[in-house]
Amino acid sequence: MEHRLEADLTLSGPLKDPSALGPLVTKTAEEAVQRTIGAKGEGRLTEWSAEGDHLKVVFESTGARPHQALLAFVRRLGEELGKSQKVGVRTFRSPKYRTHFTLSAAPEKPVAIPLPHRLTHRGTEATLELDDLEEPGLRDNWMDRAVALVKEKVERQHYEGKEQFWSLLTSSPRRETAFAKDPTEEMLRRLWVRPGPTKGKWFLGPTAAHLFRTMERIAREEVLDPLGFHEVVQPHHDSFDILLRTGHMEGLPGEFYYVAEPKTRDPVAWERFTDLVKITGEVPKDELAKMVTGPTAVSCYAQCPTIYWWLSGRTIATESLPLLVYDKSAVSNRYESGGRHGLERVDEFHRIEPVYVGAPDDLVALRERLLERYGRVFNDILELEWRTAWVTPFYMQQSGQVGLEDSKAHVKGTIDFEAYLPYRGPRETSEWLEFQNLSIVGDKYTKAFSIKTQKGELWSGCSGIGLERWLTAFLAQKGLDPDAWPAAFRDYAGTLPHDVKFL
Ligand code: ATP
Ligand code: ZN
Ligand code: MG
Repeated sequence: MEHRLEADLTLSGPLKDPSALGPLVTKTAEEAVQRTIGAKGEGRLTEWSAEGDHLKVVFESTGARPHQALLAFVRRLGEELGKSQKVGVRTFRSPKYRTHFTLSAAPEKPVAIPLPHRLTHRGTEATLELDDLEEPGLRDNWMDRAVALVKEKVERQHYEGKEQFWSLLTSSPRRETAFAKDPTEEMLRRLWVRPGPTKGKWFLGPTAAHLFRTMERIAREEVLDPLGFHEVVQPHHDSFDILLRTGHMEGLPGEFYYVAEPKTRDPVAWERFTDLVKITGEVPKDELAKMVTGPTAVSCYAQCPTIYWWLSGRTIATESLPLLVYDKSAVSNRYESGGRHGLERVDEFHRIEPVYVGAPDDLVALRERLLERYGRVFNDILELEWRTAWVTPFYMQQSGQVGLEDSKAHVKGTIDFEAYLPYRGPRETSEWLEFQNLSIVGDKYTKAFSIKTQKGELWSGCSGIGLERWLTAFLAQKGLDPDAWPAAFRDYAGTLPHDVKFL
């Protein structure tokens, strides 16, 4: 493997003694290579030339990519020239940087990356050449990140279109089908719900809201409170920084609702806008676009990222572990586009999200207790026909976030809970509804957010309790008539509010 980095340095002025440059360049380059590439392959300065206040150098390496050597070289050269000739390195850039690497499989189609480049390959041996890398790109390892991106995109070509890994874990007993309609249609017919004024959102009238809150109470009283979870209340907007750290920003930019801010709250600045509203009776969209910023944050997608942010940079005392908290305040917003359906796939939904942080063994034990408690709710209170499956998205397996070994051992990964929806057809062939999930993600997020413990490893995980999904799963199987509901659920629900009568 050969890497070749050409770099141009601009000095802050002409050298007083150009003849001293040669020995200094050679010595500084040797030391820089020694410190950064060292014995991990061969590295060397292969060419250099100087003219006026410009210096050209070429580093080659068979080991680590040589940009760290360049950075060390530039730093040291600047110090030395400063001392001897009162001249510094003003800036540096790379007109060409070439690297070789091995792909996990040969690309099936061309791979694009958003930097000026040339990418070629012979089978799995790839060569990437980046043009015009400026100083920040060299300092921030853009070459390494570009290589990682190419590898990821090639891997994605091989697993795209494949189903996510799914293997059945448990099945509840089969239950008599008492109802086979689409529960949202039925709720609409009874005027319990109304499609919201904006995309994929619903207004729940008193009866539906009562049932929805009953689900929430069951989750808290049967699962979260007995296991010692405590509620937190988190902000509803996620910063870009948080989503960069979790990886959501690169993974899901097309699923977010973005938040914009007014550029000013000065009524004078808004005068043209308000005058137009008064005259036209409409919202002048172009004028509005001028008055608000571009996106500055994201409306909550899931709650755990902001919970990790709350813990970031902190060391959790042993006595507070495992840390067990949940949020039910932030409402999830997702751009579901073509997938929207009834109350079960909406753009705005309400989840309770328990998050747990602790020693690996404690989290594995907690998962058992959560499974047992959830099981009791779905079997004895809601009396659902449901199943669990071990699922791991392919990208997680591929990117090494969850290794195949972990997945086989069922330590790190996700369990989906699925309910049979009779209105969708036979249980064997129809798609069941994922109504919640439960994950242990290892140290992915504790690392990303620098969350520490006094001793030992610190893992985390979360569970997404989708209340709209609990409600639709229940109503899809049991129907809307309270007499047909399981006694334990009827006890929880108590007296339903009278339906509002509309004429
Ligand atoms: P799906 O595969 O159905 O899109 P997901 O994998 O995107 O779900 P997660 O991000 O894992 O869902 O969120 C966990 C839970 O949040 C889900 O189990 C479900 O209960 C709920 N949920 C997710 N998306 C929606 C939605 N669009 N409408 C209602 N509930 C949802
Ligand atoms: Zn989560
Ligand atoms: Mg989804």
